[in-house]
Amino acid sequence: MCAEVRDSLVELTSKLIQLPSVNPPGFTVNIIGFIKDWLTSRGFSVEIREYVKDKPNAIVRIGKGKPVLILNGHVDVVPPGDETRWSYPPFSGKVVEGKIFGRGSSDMKGGVAVLMMVFSKLAEKIEKSGAGTLILAATSDEETGGHPGVEALVKDGILRGDAAIIAEPSGSFRYYVGEKGLCQVKLVARGRPAHGSLPILGDNAIMRLVNSLIKARELVDDFNSRIKIPSELVGVIRNSAEAYYEAVGKSLGLRIEDFERVVGTVSFNPGVIRGGSKINMVPDHAELELDMRVPPGVNPNDVVNTLRSGLKDVDLEVLDVSQPNYTPPSERIVSLVHEGISRVLGREPKPIIVTGATDGRYLRYSGIPTVVYGPGELGLAHAYDEYVTIEDLVNTYNVLSYVITKFFNL
Ligand SMILES: [Zn+2]
Repeated sequence: MCAEVRDSLVELTSKLIQLPSVNPPGFTVNIIGFIKDWLTSRGFSVEIREYVKDKPNAIVRIGKGKPVLILNGHVDVVPPGDETRWSYPPFSGKVVEGKIFGRGSSDMKGGVAVLMMVFSKLAEKIEKSGAGTLILAATSDEETGGHPGVEALVKDGILRGDAAIIAEPSGSFRYYVGEKGLCQVKLVARGRPAHGSLPILGDNAIMRLVNSLIKARELVDDFNSRIKIPSELVGVIRNSAEAYYEAVGKSLGLRIEDFERVVGTVSFNPGVIRGGSKINMVPDHAELELDMRVPPGVNPNDVVNTLRSGLKDVDLEVLDVSQPNYTPPSERIVSLVHEGISRVLGREPKPIIVTGATDGRYLRYSGIPTVVYGPGELGLAHAYDEYVTIEDLVNTYNVLSYVITKFFNL
């Protein structure tokens, strides 16, 4: 690659970091405006779609007809947290020894910069060849659910295609083919109030809730012992466990097997508990919010039903449910990314699934085979001193150029 592309990748990533787009509140007018101007000045015509005020999306397409390939990246970032814990200011985009620092460098302004550069470099070739359509969508609000971003664009028919690549941070030697689903419920215990000195007169809602929580854990353990992971994903789960272990597990003394279990089964995390009003009263109300993530092959509604029929002492409310999803390794876009990594970088690529949700789910729900591949590391997203390496930017740029060139048979 020429030094010019490398310098442009660094400069563009830095510039995007310097345009804060912290979510919440998720104001992205400035950064989307910058991306629009950048593309317009290179001769592209950019469409802006704004479903919620101040959370616009920019879409640009070139070429015509099928096949259609979508490139997507979100421009919002999570808050920087305590700014004094950063070695460089979080919105400086400072370049130090081959790394670009700042909030969003890994997740995922580095990825957006790579997509913008790849798009602008290959556009003319695709247009002239008549080989199909390439879409670039820079979107808002991924960090708080993506509803006015990718979800709305899919519903509106703007993002429709034969394959998609999202440049979330996978690292240049890995790619994501799927993600776990969500199952969040609330357990509510009701009792009868009484004076705390005579608890036999009351019915203690906190005791009821705690006993039900222990029972819920047993029910989920039992559910997990019966899970069948789709056979084409067994190796993928092992890869994921290794990736999490390398990124965040080693230093905590965890084992790869621990991650294999948490990725491949329903995870269990009571996140919030509330109840009672005074120490000398028998509480008549207590509630708990439980976050569970379900692997591909499991329907989160089955988890809800298992808890509902096994827990007799509490009411269960469903807070949020989303289906796990994955793109089968046999899809063309998956094999192209796999081939791209191994040919361009000369390393054995690792497909993985992730425990959190990305905007990829909206594309997959609508039937678009989707691969997540971009610069940055799993463990760095949302962390202090978040950075992306220049090497990763260059690697992913080269791999994506290869993938897109092959996709359109250029
Ligand atoms: Zn992200």
